[in-house]
Amino acid sequence: MKNPIKIKNQIKTTEQKPKKYNSWISFWRAQTKSKRTVCAVNGCYNKDLVGAHVINVHGKPAKNGYIAPLCNSCNGKINDTFIVDRSLLVKIGDRDYVK
Ligand SMILES: [Zn+2]
Repeated sequence: MKNPIKIKNQIKTTEQKPKKYNSWISFWRAQTKSKRTVCAVNGCYNKDLVGAHVINVHGKPAKNGYIAPLCNSCNGKINDTFIVDRSLLVKIGDRDYVK
């Protein structure tokens, strides 16, 4: 992993819908052009990906957080922190979601 970053799931994000896509994983794929099928979490190889709302643990938290391709299981672990490669995170801009 070239550029590890520690993240955790954001809570209460189910109300937040992407503006131009029908899911956050579609948003993530459009931004990254990635065909990745495996969970972003270091050491996890599950393939049931969702676009998970995550936030950086260290440093100033990104305003709207990030979308990361996590499996359903990792996406459900609200108290855990995970190591992912920074290149897999897509920052959510103010205009990327329906307010
Ligand atoms: Zn996972």
